[in-house]
Amino acid sequence: MPEISGGRAVVLGASMAGLMAARVLREKYERVTVVERDVLPAGPEHRRGVPQSRHLHVLLARGTSIIEELFPGFVAEAVAAGATPADALARTRLLVSGYRLLQTDVGLQTVLAGRPLVEHIVRGRVRALDGVDFLDGHDVVSLAATADGRRVTGVRVQSDGGTEEMLEADLVLDATGRGSRSPVWLEQLGHGRPEVDKVQVGLSYATLTYRLPDGAMGKDQLMLNNATPGHQRAAVLSEQENGLFRLTMAGMLGDRPPLDRKGFDAFAASLRFPDIFEAVRDGEALHDPVGFQYPANIRHRYERMRSFPEGFLILGDAICSFNPVYGQGMTSAAMQAEALRGVLADDRGPTWKRHFRAMATAVDPAWQISAGGDLVFPGVVGHRTPLIRMINAYLPRVHAAAAEDVEISTRFIRVADLVDRPEALVRPATALRVLGRRRAKPEV
Ligand SMILES: Cc1cc2nc3c(=O)[nH]c(=O)nc-3n(C[C@H](O)[C@H](O)[C@H](O)COP(=O)(O)OP(=O)(O)OC[C@H]3O[C@@H](n4cnc5c(N)ncnc54)[C@H](O)[C@@H]3O)c2cc1C
Repeated sequence: MPEISGGRAVVLGASMAGLMAARVLREKYERVTVVERDVLPAGPEHRRGVPQSRHLHVLLARGTSIIEELFPGFVAEAVAAGATPADALARTRLLVSGYRLLQTDVGLQTVLAGRPLVEHIVRGRVRALDGVDFLDGHDVVSLAATADGRRVTGVRVQSDGGTEEMLEADLVLDATGRGSRSPVWLEQLGHGRPEVDKVQVGLSYATLTYRLPDGAMGKDQLMLNNATPGHQRAAVLSEQENGLFRLTMAGMLGDRPPLDRKGFDAFAASLRFPDIFEAVRDGEALHDPVGFQYPANIRHRYERMRSFPEGFLILGDAICSFNPVYGQGMTSAAMQAEALRGVLADDRGPTWKRHFRAMATAVDPAWQISAGGDLVFPGVVGHRTPLIRMINAYLPRVHAAAAEDVEISTRFIRVADLVDRPEALVRPATALRVLGRRRAKPEV
């Protein structure tokens, strides 16, 4: 473990971002306390503070490798608990822009499992760390700071029973997710609010968990049908743990997948490719469809603030939350935790400027893919740069090429899984290969 240089760090929020941040902070701080509003369950269960856990959570290859590095043996532990090991492309049926992408073993490891199981395993690993303690059932009420607001000195929390307590800290890190109150707290401390980039997608989710007959997905473990301007409905069906399968479908711009069985099935049957509907048609649904509304991709530009208190950092969805159909949130949180590790390794300490610059770099690739990709839909509100327009016109050519050229489908999945940066797809070697071929007609 690197040299300890700090006293106590307090992490707000015990979801994926908070847990990974706690793991990284413990390398530099003698004591790390994780504060969480929910009373944390002992097992892999849904909880109130993470309502998205009922929906499919794809863990991308980049996220898997970072989590494995932070918690060696994570994949093996997940598999031992029933999760399904997978390669990112070998048994992944990508039905994108009307094309069926070629599949091959790309050597990128992932695990397919429900969100509660992934979080449960990571939480268990963090709980086992010496010097890390959890204060669950406690709501974060406000930050404590010096009178001039230039240094955060701790946090005020309130127990379920209403008792208030002050936790003094050398560093406070906010990982309370999309609903984070950091913009308000910063304003109260006299620093103003951050600029916010927003891409409004008006997304509605609906999810069902199934038992499927043997072979219902053919040899595949995951099927993805993406949304395009001509067909704005998306769906992902994936194997999960212990023989279960989960289907999440999404409509955009006010198109809502119904939450009654008949309507849900009709929505599945209306997808561009028939594959997903055919796979679940004879399945046994284990609950009623559950829904979720996701209005917009949101990115807080903390790196552009002029002043900010020292002793305070932010990480995860609290900085940036992405359209979930790209499956990036947990992986982005992992990439941010990895970047935080780099910031902490710097002898000058984790200043807010260095931290948010590092977070911006870590967030960029996922933001380019999801927020940039969503701007292909004419009804989506957001800022379209010429580069975004160019890339959105080019991507269907990549998909068409990836249906015939396994090297292109490999390069595509490496970018989609955040292993390579999006620029990899426009480098001359790839662009020539994509644009140099006659564009095949879409299959559907
Ligand atoms: C519908 C949907 C589907 C998604 N699908 C995927 C997917 O396929 N793949 C993927 O990688 N990501 C997916 N995501 C994103 C993923 O869930 C998040 O990116 C991930 O959980 C990391 O978020 P976080 O830890 O920053 O915040 P969150 O998960 O939102 O957690 C915030 C935590 O802070 C706690 N908290 C909040 N306020 C307080 C307070 N005042 N005091 C104390 N505690 C507090 C909450 O209880 C919670 O535990 C999806 C998201 C949604 C909405």
